Amino acid sequence: MDYLPLCFKVKNRSCLIIGGGTIAYRKAVLLDKAGAKINVVAPKIDPKLAALAEQSGGVLTLREYHSDDLHGHIFIIGATDIEPVNERVAHDANALGLLVNIVDSPDLCNVIFPALIDRTPLLISVSSSGSAPVLARAIRSQIESSVAANIGELGDFIAERRTAVRAALDNSESRVREFWENMLDSEISERVLAGRNNEADELFNQYLQGVLDNSDTMKGEVYLVGAGPGDPDLLTFKALRLMQRADVVLYDRLVSPAIVDMTRRDAERIYVGKARSNHALPQGEINQLLIDLAKAGNKVVRLKGGDPFIFGRGGEEIEGLTEHGIPFQIVPGISAANGCACYSGIPLTHRDHAQSVRFLTGHLKDGTMDLPWQELIPDSQTVVIYMGLIGLDIICKQLIAHGKPADTPIALVERGTTPNQQTHIGTLETIPGIIQGKEVHAPTLIIIGSVVSLHSRLQWLKPA
Ligand code: SAH
Repeated sequence: MDYLPLCFKVKNRSCLIIGGGTIAYRKAVLLDKAGAKINVVAPKIDPKLAALAEQSGGVLTLREYHSDDLHGHIFIIGATDIEPVNERVAHDANALGLLVNIVDSPDLCNVIFPALIDRTPLLISVSSSGSAPVLARAIRSQIESSVAANIGELGDFIAERRTAVRAALDNSESRVREFWENMLDSEISERVLAGRNNEADELFNQYLQGVLDNSDTMKGEVYLVGAGPGDPDLLTFKALRLMQRADVVLYDRLVSPAIVDMTRRDAERIYVGKARSNHALPQGEINQLLIDLAKAGNKVVRLKGGDPFIFGRGGEEIEGLTEHGIPFQIVPGISAANGCACYSGIPLTHRDHAQSVRFLTGHLKDGTMDLPWQELIPDSQTVVIYMGLIGLDIICKQLIAHGKPADTPIALVERGTTPNQQTHIGTLETIPGIIQGKEVHAPTLIIIGSVVSLHSRLQWLKPA
């Protein structure tokens, strides 16, 4: 190891920046976040930097750097673009045993800035020891996506209770550690992250009491998670985080194997089916299974294709949980309409084509479809039909019969956002013929309206 990573408390302490331009300003912003008193020496000082320094209680000195300037400061930053000046600053600071950073010159520094994720009080810093900052930044981005944006709130929540818990658990190091590890893994931390601090506080007190009485009261929880239309990159950060905490995962046919594989490795995986009219588990049994698994203390992830609240029966599954007092969270997902539209270059609204969009289900009941056909006629509205592939003929005929022009463009997006995506384009009149004899796979989404005509211009062009 060439460096020792430390966290440096600079609150209300005097730091000196030599240099008055943009680079100096960037460093000043960091110092300011940490509450430092910022002093600046430079013949010319950027007004933003000057304002920041003055606001922090520091002094501005408008002239060239002198060696004497270093006295009284604990941290020196050289941020000029004149190499000999930077070298002198480094030399002088080292002679005085001060901490010094010269921007972009790791050889002149005895401290360097890491790439930072600031979720105060949680700080994550990544350093390449000054050798490859771009790599450090890339790693930081990877970490950033797996740390909840408001993880700092959880840090505060713990900090406020640390002393009390330690005292309650007789300062036993192992009990205290186990207590916090379990708490982090529980619905309490999820409540804090969801901003529901009152509930979290109540649950926390119950948990602490349970640990003290030796009757741990930790309950199971259900996460109803929208898994998006297929491409795993379309998962939300929150979905991924909860998937990686699951004890049990229930998923159905619409959720791609690549996504199921992203759940915690040793989580139990239960397929609950749902091919069209061939439900592997009837809805009632899925609802009951969620309740039973959560009551047994499991963290249950119910993965739904797309968004759980768009033709996803998410509402029904939640109702059962509420009746049994089981805590739950709902995570939105990218619905098939959004995914298919973007991946096939069909904007759902467009100033020149459509001012509104309507989502409907084309599910057939006893071979018929009961849609408000009259309301689907206006040109200015894009119509998106889920579960409509089998009823495509009926949809096209009914729309034409109710007055929609037969040459209205229509798109079928098959297995949207996956590597197997296919888009079939036609008009209400021609599309049944276009797909005749072709094998069109489920899931397929139907988009109707003049926005479909933009497909040829806006679709993603594969590089040659
Ligand atoms: N909750 C889901 C919809 C479930 S209904 C969502 O928000 O997307 C199932 C229907 O969604 C399918 O019949 C199909 O019309 C559509 N669908 C889901 N995923 C799709 C995909 N990857 N490509 C095309 N259509 C899809």
